[in-house]
Amino acid sequence: MNYIYLDNASTTKLDKKVLEKMMPYLTDNFGNANSVHGIGRNAVKGLDEARSIVAELLNADFNEIYFTSGGTEGDNWALNGFTKARGNKNKIVISSIEHSAMLKTANELKGVELVKVKPSANGIVDAKDFTSAVDNNTYLASLMLANNEVGTFQPVKEVSEYCKSKGVSVFTDAVQAMGALEIDVKDLGVDMLSFSAHKFNGPKGVGAVYIKNGTKIGGIITGGHQEREKRGGTSNVAGAIGLAYALKFNRETLNNDKKYITDLRNYFIDKILSLDIGAKLNGDRDNRLPNNANILFSAIVGESLLYKLDINGVCASLGAACSAGSIDPSHVLKEMGLSDVDAKSSIRFTFSKENTYDEIDRVVSIIKSIIKP
Ligand code: PLP
Repeated sequence: MNYIYLDNASTTKLDKKVLEKMMPYLTDNFGNANSVHGIGRNAVKGLDEARSIVAELLNADFNEIYFTSGGTEGDNWALNGFTKARGNKNKIVISSIEHSAMLKTANELKGVELVKVKPSANGIVDAKDFTSAVDNNTYLASLMLANNEVGTFQPVKEVSEYCKSKGVSVFTDAVQAMGALEIDVKDLGVDMLSFSAHKFNGPKGVGAVYIKNGTKIGGIITGGHQEREKRGGTSNVAGAIGLAYALKFNRETLNNDKKYITDLRNYFIDKILSLDIGAKLNGDRDNRLPNNANILFSAIVGESLLYKLDINGVCASLGAACSAGSIDPSHVLKEMGLSDVDAKSSIRFTFSKENTYDEIDRVVSIIKSIIKP
């Protein structure tokens, strides 16, 4: 079947140009970057190249970039690593709409006061609500840059400015935002930021974190001396090269792609809302990721619609992919004030530059035929 793929927040297709850059490090340059011989030195060159590309694109220093296995590890690292180095402060402030990689990990921290700040009904956390929870006892404030379910941008810059003035470290989960925005870590003002290559046409199983020089943070994967003693384990050189080039290629066409995807997404939203099937957009209409449309279909249970879309070759998602298969309503939509029934009737469509207007027309007519047969 020829699928129409509208689930790019879950993962994206590896760019062939990225694969070409990775191939030498999966074949001839297969070395361990810790070996002292020539093949090992070739691997080090690859790792250094990847780190300098990423550092330059994020406006960071070479030494501020650490490669990880993906977004989940970066989020875990921020919470557990900061907690290890927290000194005598014991409070963390996060938003209640973080990804489960943050929320679950935060809930499991022992001896820590955890404050979760709710968003407004539009899926955006108010900066003042957030900063008013930060006090002298707070060692970490964590707010995602863009939400993975409704795509809403969060006021990370304002939060960083406030926290800096109070000496509180700030982490942002930029897993969904990276690839959609030109992120400059200095401009954003955060101390630490995580992201994952498979969200912007890079390979799966590799990510990176930016950790500002001077930030006190412990490692969470111990053993080897890799990543400047902060993250043990043989380096995934091909993955790091894949991540770096995926980001580089993404940036080269970002402005045009952003416009195309935003227009395509808006075309979809307008068509769906005009169908007279009781559909509503979840989350702020404008202040959201270009590729995200999260729609409440009050006429049908989400799982049933998703299943029927799949039969018709349309790939979408019920809230976070990680909770697909579970019938729990999305915690993000519930925090925004939706009832369990409405949260379970909401579907996330996330577009890419490969989608066409023709595909959107087909999806809209499929949805219409499912809901109004
Ligand atoms: N954080 C956010 C906001 C995400 O959307 C995801 C994945 O969907 C993750 C973290 C986890 O990233 P990874 O799949 O690379 O572990």
